[in-house]
Amino acid sequence: MRKKTVRDLSDAQVKGKRALVRVDFNVPLDDDGQITDDTRIRAALPTLELLLERGCRPVILSHLGRPKGKPEPKYSLQPVSRRLEELTGARVNFVESTDSDEAMQASLDCKHGELLLLENTRFLGGEEKNDPRLARALAALGDFFVNDAFGAAHRAHASTVGVAEHLRPAVAGLLMQTELDYLGGALSNPKKPFLAILGGAKISGKIDVIEQLLPKVDGLLIGGAMACTFYRAMGLETGKSLVEEDRIPMAKELLARAGARLTLPHDAMVAPSLERARDANAVPRNAIPKDQAMFDIGPQTIASYARAIANAKTIMWNGPMGVFETPPFDAGTRAVADAMAKATAKGATTIVGGGDSAAAVSEAGLEKKMSHVSTGGGASLEFLEGKKLPGVEVLDEAV
Ligand code: ADP
Ligand code: MG
Repeated sequence: MRKKTVRDLSDAQVKGKRALVRVDFNVPLDDDGQITDDTRIRAALPTLELLLERGCRPVILSHLGRPKGKPEPKYSLQPVSRRLEELTGARVNFVESTDSDEAMQASLDCKHGELLLLENTRFLGGEEKNDPRLARALAALGDFFVNDAFGAAHRAHASTVGVAEHLRPAVAGLLMQTELDYLGGALSNPKKPFLAILGGAKISGKIDVIEQLLPKVDGLLIGGAMACTFYRAMGLETGKSLVEEDRIPMAKELLARAGARLTLPHDAMVAPSLERARDANAVPRNAIPKDQAMFDIGPQTIASYARAIANAKTIMWNGPMGVFETPPFDAGTRAVADAMAKATAKGATTIVGGGDSAAAVSEAGLEKKMSHVSTGGGASLEFLEGKKLPGVEVLDEAV
């Protein structure tokens, strides 16, 4: 079931109109309020530029950080407004309130070719409660609604869901559409062989994703600390590795059900502690010393995972293979990213989901060498779990 997008609207529906656009400008800021990574702003540009081209006046809503329903200067969108101006080359009007007469007047005054950015929606008490009065007030700021905030689509807030109940058409932006096409395409109609790679710290956070993917994939490769909970299910010693004791029975049951489709790392990079990374060495998985912990997959695993990736046509990756923040335990994660980049060049569809995985790919400079790197950490995970995203559900269906 496809959602209507900005491209599906007729000229009569858009020209000269105020497009109320919800984006995800939730960028990281340093202590001086400087933007340290503007990926999310860049990701929304295609939609904003298309709206400008089509003669609309975009009125932009976003959240930033976690202010508790009242203004907090450190979460102001002011720096984002300046960056947006640099990136678009268009004038960006910024209004320091969102639910106000001033915001309404600014939306009416906004000229063709200009953008209007309103202050952080989470400065408003009703935002996270999806307050109906606030939803109606926001809806009055536009003539139609565009949701391009995939990263916030798993939250039913006033600016993502409530507003769409009062403002039609309500359509997906181009980023939203790209996210749904890649993630949804992999789940419903992947080119085979379809390989999933899952890592990260906890099996408990990924269990629903494993359940959802298992019947669909040709292979599921496991990395990260998650592997250690499976090792324990196999009766192996895991030393000081991170293990979720209460999930061992579940891991056992999953192993039995998955059979040969699920692959665990054959070897491990272990060390006495992260501080003693210099003492790291590779051991087979059945020889993890009692006083050491697994912090990454080992070299044999890297080689066999790289081969599996090279042979797949669709590869979905979520969760680092090791403690990639601390070299040399970034080796497994980097190797997977490299192998995926090579597979992309050979025509495979490669998709990366999850905040830390996306950060690792971007650190390795391989972002552009993947078919798609999701901008929505939590949202992409919920989507892969098979949950419905309220911010998507509420949008108009394509006919
Ligand atoms: P994502 O954000 O991509 O979904 P997660 O949040 O699930 O990924 O997991 C990322 C975290 O997992 C990282 O902080 C990483 O250090 C940690 N991690 C990965 N492997 C291990 C390991 N063997 N031991 C401890 N932590 C690990
Ligand atoms: Mg994470």
